[in-house]
Amino acid sequence: MNTALITGAAGFIGSHLVEGLLERGYRVRGVDDLSTGDRDRLDAVWEDESFSFVEGDVRNAETVATAVQDVDVIFHLAAYISVAGSVEHPALASDVNCVGTARVLEAARSADVEGAVLASSTAVYGPDPPVPTNEAAAVTPDSPYALSKAYGEELAGQLTVPAVAVRYFNVYGPRQDPSGEYAAVIPAFIERMLAGKRPIIYGDGEQTRDFVFVEDVVSATIQAGEAVLEAEGLENDEVSTGSCPAFNVATGNRLSINELVEVLNALFGTDLEPIHEPPRPGDVKHSGADISRAREVLGYEPRFDFGAGLERTIEFYRDG
Ligand code: NAD
Repeated sequence: MNTALITGAAGFIGSHLVEGLLERGYRVRGVDDLSTGDRDRLDAVWEDESFSFVEGDVRNAETVATAVQDVDVIFHLAAYISVAGSVEHPALASDVNCVGTARVLEAARSADVEGAVLASSTAVYGPDPPVPTNEAAAVTPDSPYALSKAYGEELAGQLTVPAVAVRYFNVYGPRQDPSGEYAAVIPAFIERMLAGKRPIIYGDGEQTRDFVFVEDVVSATIQAGEAVLEAEGLENDEVSTGSCPAFNVATGNRLSINELVEVLNALFGTDLEPIHEPPRPGDVKHSGADISRAREVLGYEPRFDFGAGLERTIEFYRDG
């Protein structure tokens, strides 16, 4: 039985990854400082004997050194996650994402962990990537957040810990935080529209995103972990410009934010006109992935079309 360490385990994606790994027979240790995480997200697994949890900060060397003991593979998700927030708080974002990642990789090296999967982001491709974007596109980060994710990939490439980066596009699903000024668009819209409020769009709404359901993200992330454990197909060849092998995790389909409002209005039987506010710094105009590499090397195949993923997501916020 393999033991996995998940940093950011009480987060949106981390908590789904905990469940996915337990279902696949892993022993799972979670670490989280609960800064944006929530213990309630782990309600389904507290009783599971194969799950343990450490409350702590990934920037703390002692916490991380203890957490990595006897671990086969690390999934490093803990991060300061907001692009716009990182522009306002660059020191904090860099501290958590750069120092935190360096701590995790350093501890992994000392403890002879077999490999690590780093949660990276489409943001590394910068403001104007060719769309659909494949992993050979230039890494041109234009926000402290994007820079910190590119740093993590670069650092992993320079250390001797085998690592892969999974570049998530726009992930959505149950348990994503709908509140706060940096909330992701889908939970923010669902929460407002369920309350009969008009959704707020930053910019003209013609910007497009590749929305991927969290359970597909979990599958791809676990497949990346298995590939790193088996050290298969992971040469950092010409299809990846990052310093460790990188995989886009997305669907390959795009939707505009205006279309998203239309879909939600149709599902809710409402006619709520969006409120437009100025675009946020660091936001890209179009984002859409070429997922051929993840398909070919990892065997990743998204299973949830947008309708199915959205239905499950709405159900969660309606019941919550
Ligand atoms: P999230 O905020 O729900 O999860 C992050 C978790 O990390 C939280 O539980 C938080 O408490 C924890 N954390 C933050 N700082 C920490 C620290 N110093 N020590 C320990 N724990 C800490 O966000 P998420 O959406 O689940 O994102 C998970 C990962 O995926 C992040 O690395 C993020 O950058 C990346 N990502 C997410 C998306 C997306 O669409 N959600 C897109 C691209 C990349």
